[in-house]
Amino acid sequence: MQDYPLTLDSIFLRAETLYADRALMSAGPVPVRTTYGQWAERTRRLGGLLDTLGISSDGRVATFAWNSTRHLELYFAAPCTGRVLHTLNIRLFPEQLAYVANHAGDEVVFVDRSLLGMLAPLLPSIPSITHVVVMDDGAGPEPSDLTITTAEVYDYEELLAQCEPVEFHTTDEYQAAAMCYTSGTTGNPKGVVYSHRSTWLHSMAAITTAGLGCSESDVILPIVPMFHANAWGLAHAAPMCGAGLVFPGSDMSPQGLLTLMVNEKVTVAAGVPTIWAGIRPLLEGADLSHLRAVVCGGSAVPQSLSEFYRETLGIPILQAWGMTETHPLATVAHLSSRDANLSEQDAAARRARQGGPVPGMEVRIVEPDTTEALPWDDEATGELQVRSPWAASDYYDPDPGVELSTPDGWMKTGDVAAIDAFGSVRLVDRTKDLVKSGGEWISSVELENEIMAHPGVAEAAVIGVPHPKWDERPIACVVRAESSTVTAEELMEYLRSRVAKWWLPDAIEFIDEIPKTSVGKFSKKDLRMRFTDYVLPS
Ligand code: ADP
Repeated sequence: MQDYPLTLDSIFLRAETLYADRALMSAGPVPVRTTYGQWAERTRRLGGLLDTLGISSDGRVATFAWNSTRHLELYFAAPCTGRVLHTLNIRLFPEQLAYVANHAGDEVVFVDRSLLGMLAPLLPSIPSITHVVVMDDGAGPEPSDLTITTAEVYDYEELLAQCEPVEFHTTDEYQAAAMCYTSGTTGNPKGVVYSHRSTWLHSMAAITTAGLGCSESDVILPIVPMFHANAWGLAHAAPMCGAGLVFPGSDMSPQGLLTLMVNEKVTVAAGVPTIWAGIRPLLEGADLSHLRAVVCGGSAVPQSLSEFYRETLGIPILQAWGMTETHPLATVAHLSSRDANLSEQDAAARRARQGGPVPGMEVRIVEPDTTEALPWDDEATGELQVRSPWAASDYYDPDPGVELSTPDGWMKTGDVAAIDAFGSVRLVDRTKDLVKSGGEWISSVELENEIMAHPGVAEAAVIGVPHPKWDERPIACVVRAESSTVTAEELMEYLRSRVAKWWLPDAIEFIDEIPKTSVGKFSKKDLRMRFTDYVLPS
């Protein structure tokens, strides 16, 4: 067989030549409508722009941007000219942002004007960034109104207009294409470097029917940010298969997203559970007849949320599990032919699992700190580990002692799971979130799921607090649904028939909002901090 390099150039070329007329749009603030053909021409000129700025041939090109067609230009121009795209998470704390930009050694940053005000004060602490290219998205301060002294500031469109299109000729599939930092739910952000090859293979897996089954007839809305594990691979998978793309820009409000889905006839939309929970109250009456997949991952999908979508729209949520370290797609919870005769209730329970590995991904569970594989009987639980051409073997320049791989070459996920006889993964918890009570583990995820199934509850997060006798006991932090008056006693009563007695939380605390991480997940770290000195009721 030929030695055909799996580089992003070939994905780019497919979109440019086969799907030139396929539509792309960004919502704004100022809407942009374009096609893969026009995008490809601009992307080639952007390659020229990077040369003109003198960015090193393998330099880090940072973005600080919303999901947009311009961001998609950077997604290809940087790697296809040999550089490495580094998508900065716009919601990180300033110190974390400076940390990751310095750690990666970013040379240039492409920033949406609406976000420039946030970035500008940080630039003096990131000396490697000597160029700031502002992408005018119609909002925010004018660059001239800000004091930026440590870098040259340019306007994206002005520069692009002056640059000539370039040829792309990346041939080394093992070359770095992009890097993302984990959002830091547990500790400091850690860098993961994606190669051309891993991105290519991940895109192929994403478009298989065992993955997300995308095709040219799809219109994909990545609500998941382009800085969160490459928008879960959708921004590469769509040009590979010719699917149209709709980008939300800066309007991430539930109503804004819903309107976009309706108006643009979106067929596949992907976001974390808090996004789908936010849109839930607005669903009634919305014309989402084109929608075929509501993809959800990043945190466990409450069964009650998925069932609400099924009852209202006729399509349940499609749950996927993965990590920044796995590009991220690893498992998808499709029902199989074996599930054809399941009752609605049992089918819902299967969809609440994290699902089976996509082609090219292997899973196993092991006794922690050993390489002893545990049986696939859906009862044994152990650390979930994966093996795949798109699973990271190590972090980028990790801190001492941080190891991702086992001695026999599997990637440690830090998640605890059971696997059934057919390879379907059921995530029990993150190792750090399990509540250890009297030597036995309580799954915070399962307990949260049960609590969130109560109609009076909008959100619930369970954390362990110290206990003199049991080591730790669970407490539930609950946000009431609008106009709900549910009490702690009522919730306890509700839980009594649903979970083992010793799983019942020792206390239920009603709070206004569950703190969220920079990618919209429940932040247990912040909750634990808030309840550090919590005294359990005696
Ligand atoms: P961070 O680690 O900073 O949260 P990631 O997005 O890489 O950033 O998070 C990966 C983790 O998110 C997984 O290890 C897992 O704990 C959790 N996760 C992802 N998808 C799911 C899912 N479908 N169900 C439960 N947990 C999930």
